[in-house]
Amino acid sequence: MRRRTKIVATLGPASDDADTLCKMIYAGLDVARLNFSHGDADDHRERAAVLREAAKTCGRDVGLLGDLQGPKIRVQRFENHSVVLADGDSFYLDSTLGLMDGNQDGVGVALDTLHEDLKVDDVLLLNDGMITLTVDRIEGTRIHTTVVNGGILSDHKGINLKGGGLSAAALTDVDKENIKLAAELGADFLAVSFVRSAKDVREARELFQAAGGRGLIVAKIERAEAVDDIDSIIAATDIIMVARGDLGVEMGYAELTGIQKRLIRKTRKQHKIVITATQMMESMIQNPIPTRAEVSDVANAVIDGTDAVMLSGETAVGKYPIEAISAMAEVCVGAEKFPLVAGTTTHRMNDRFEQVDEAIAMATMYTANHMSVKAIIALTESGATTRWMSRIRSDIPIYAFTPHEATNRRVALYRGVYPISFVENTENPRRLYQDIFNTLLHYELVDVDDLVIFTKGDTGGLSGGTNAMKVLTVKRET
Ligand code: PGA
Ligand code: MN
Repeated sequence: MRRRTKIVATLGPASDDADTLCKMIYAGLDVARLNFSHGDADDHRERAAVLREAAKTCGRDVGLLGDLQGPKIRVQRFENHSVVLADGDSFYLDSTLGLMDGNQDGVGVALDTLHEDLKVDDVLLLNDGMITLTVDRIEGTRIHTTVVNGGILSDHKGINLKGGGLSAAALTDVDKENIKLAAELGADFLAVSFVRSAKDVREARELFQAAGGRGLIVAKIERAEAVDDIDSIIAATDIIMVARGDLGVEMGYAELTGIQKRLIRKTRKQHKIVITATQMMESMIQNPIPTRAEVSDVANAVIDGTDAVMLSGETAVGKYPIEAISAMAEVCVGAEKFPLVAGTTTHRMNDRFEQVDEAIAMATMYTANHMSVKAIIALTESGATTRWMSRIRSDIPIYAFTPHEATNRRVALYRGVYPISFVENTENPRRLYQDIFNTLLHYELVDVDDLVIFTKGDTGGLSGGTNAMKVLTVKRET
């Protein structure tokens, strides 16, 4: 059985060599993520090059996702790299303090305006919520706090404000440089961190395109403001990432699961793609097998209808990058067997369609789900038709037949869609059908006499031009 849910994995020191990457690809890596929060431009160039090489060796199309660091607000450094904060201690944050001058009393902070965004009794969460501070008073740039939950605070740890509301713009100067880098690397996907509104998404897209980028935009939902403005963000973006790490800190983890389900549902409803991310197999950073809770978390995301599940530290710095992908792949396949996932849906059943390609895609899926169809084949330029199709729940594979490698890498992220390189080089329909059957038979995806559905446009080379569907019985070349 083929896995429908796709796997995004973060590259890092644990997955730097070509051999490990090849094994990760064979284990099920669909899209590789470069995290621009760590490493410099040359590290990312090197990683992208090794990935391309490995994908070629393995004969697979692996997408590349560049993930901007965004305005993650961080403490500066300590004289001795870290301090231990005890409950009840006084501790201050001050943007004018020297970069290396942090000590037991306070530390610098990398946002000049932080003191303007805060008021007395605000709760600050440091180091992904491990440390909690409450604001007592603000004197000029100095924010005096009391430690509520202590712990070790080390250099450059992140700061979140509980409930959200920090004013930092979504795209920093560093991000603007990294957008150019992502374009240079030919990234298939550009992820924008700490998006607040649709405007942030549009700005990132403009900059990416101006730099020559051709990829899709991922809006990372990790701020309270983004959750409030989710409909217009989904409308502006191509893909949503449920970025549970920072989102869980800002919103509190109790509501995170409900928010995840709502975001997945809303995104699919607007025909967009969704990635569920962070701590999915966290214990596999240290251990060769996942916990039952992690298994259940991944399975639930699959059942929610996510397009992809993501690994972060597990593959970037963990001890078992290959095993983490294998385990995740296995859990996806296991979860997909259940009727909650497979079978028919009422998606868009009572709506009107605006576009011909969507109407054809819906008719195809409706037909496929109501007949014994073995495969859906879409001759596609940009992958748009397969995206429409993959919004309908089904257990029938959707093959994107395309001459473009970039489309192969793009649809690698779409649930239930599998890329196949195919050049249409005949005007004769019978010849075309036989070429398609030959390809499917060659990869052993269908048998002779199987029913398949295929879609195409009359005018080749036009994205969004799909206007025909055909139900066919697979024949061998005579
Ligand atoms: P990050 O984003 O890994 O870049 O922080 C994901 C998240 O916050 O969940
Ligand atoms: Mn984040």
